[in-house]
Amino acid sequence: MTKLHTCYVCNKQFLNAIYWYDSLFDTKYDKRIIRPFCGPPCANKYREISDVNDYPQRRPLPRGEQWQIITDINSIDYKTD
Ligand SMILES: [Zn+2]
Repeated sequence: MTKLHTCYVCNKQFLNAIYWYDSLFDTKYDKRIIRPFCGPPCANKYREISDVNDYPQRRPLPRGEQWQIITDINSIDYKTD
């Protein structure tokens, strides 16, 4: 399955996402958000431009349908913003 992602930082469309932000791991959002990045430069830039690192890690990880561990975003439908 080839899924087209849109980079959250530069808006480029690309295939085979390896890097993404997942709101599972911090307490900023109370819903699941995935933000794909086209590569390491945009993933790094995201850490600079966003404030998500200022929020504590979510512990314990929440349970439920929308909080399943995601290991690959290329074969699933995800919500972004
Ligand atoms: Zn990008």
